Amino acid sequence: MSHVFPRHTKAALPTAVSGDGCYLIDADGKRYFDGSGGAAVSCLGHSDADVIKAVQDQVGKLAFAHTGFLTSEPAEELADLLVANAPGDIDRVYFVSGGSEATEAAIKLARQYHLERGEPQRRRIIARKQSYHGNTLGALAAGGNEWRRAQFAPLLIDISHISACYEYVGKANGESSFDYGQRVANELEAEILRLGPETVMAFMAEPVVGATSGAVPAVAGYFKRIREICDQYGVLLILDEVMCGMGRTGHLFACEADGVAPDILCIAKGLGAGYQPIGAMLCTRQIYEAIEHGSGFFQHGHTYIGHPVATAAGLAVVKALLERGLVQRSAEMGEKLQTALHDRFGKHPNVGDIRGRGLFRGVELVADRETKAPFDPALDLAKNIKKAAFQAGLICYPMQGTRDGQNGDHILLAPPFIITEEQIAEVIDKLETAITQCLPQA
Ligand code: PMP
Repeated sequence: MSHVFPRHTKAALPTAVSGDGCYLIDADGKRYFDGSGGAAVSCLGHSDADVIKAVQDQVGKLAFAHTGFLTSEPAEELADLLVANAPGDIDRVYFVSGGSEATEAAIKLARQYHLERGEPQRRRIIARKQSYHGNTLGALAAGGNEWRRAQFAPLLIDISHISACYEYVGKANGESSFDYGQRVANELEAEILRLGPETVMAFMAEPVVGATSGAVPAVAGYFKRIREICDQYGVLLILDEVMCGMGRTGHLFACEADGVAPDILCIAKGLGAGYQPIGAMLCTRQIYEAIEHGSGFFQHGHTYIGHPVATAAGLAVVKALLERGLVQRSAEMGEKLQTALHDRFGKHPNVGDIRGRGLFRGVELVADRETKAPFDPALDLAKNIKKAAFQAGLICYPMQGTRDGQNGDHILLAPPFIITEEQIAEVIDKLETAITQCLPQA
């Protein structure tokens, strides 16, 4: 019997014992292709010699130094490298241990920024439906997935949720993609005006939505309009790139493709590539200086911020991404994956949409392509596909629709950037086997 808690399933899980490139290997020697990098984590695969060495060297040299007293070489070097490659005026980096810690810190930093500037009435956050920003209480409140929030709702701070930018589901008949994007972006302005602009502190969004919708990018022009609205009303723009950042979409930061830069940027997952738990919240000089010239310090902290071994792993990962051309490879192999998905599923009667950027791709399943009607959630289609794919030796990330009738079951693919063309074919074959096995018989 396992004493490990929590477990996602009641069935006993196989024990992972080793990793080899894009594969994970269990105690019985079975190999699984990691088609989703866990949850868009393992961008370098599971046996990257450079990152392993960096972790080993660092733990031998300095395992831990509390940042209340000392900084460390890898933390300083990683912050420099991130800032040198970050969009816009991003200038400071706050290291944490994962995605929820990054978004939670972002919410608190936004609040403190407005306080320092003498606007204590700014306390409201606006976010989007069908989004996920983490599981701690502030991050969960910001997320717009009703199913994840429901049982904790009485504990959550009050956050407004405007529509997602989800073209496949939301665009009206005859509406252009651009007009649709402007329409849903303008919901932000309407909500700011409804709440009172002087009370709103930040808007938070994922540039490419991951966990709740399966790699949904915004349409062209959407984030530019969002940026304009934020600037007009003094609202900070927080972009959550925990899942879609670090090269996953074919750009180091996903927002580069949208032509906007945030005030606060959250990253995690691919930053440590699974070799260490690490996340980061990055902010502009303007925000940092408001605090430096005000109370002097960000009133926040965790024991493991700026952990030397975690930042050493992050440093080796970012160097690998930049020096080995892996961000470019994510873009190129992502196009190949998209083409292969289209070739195999483009005419499938139950595949409604194939989308994404770089090696971040989503396949949305529908009961009816014409009406885009999702499958009945009682069928547990996503869960069954996950199980069937796993049996076939493929790890992918299927998610149940949001159960609010707005989107259906979908499968997220986010393989390591070292994936080859033969391996793309392997992923598609195994995915097809799983989907065919699980779809209800017509
Ligand atoms: N934000 C986004 C966009 C995410 O996808 C996730 C994790 N799926 C989180 C935040 C939370 O990250 P973590 O699970 O590391 O706390």
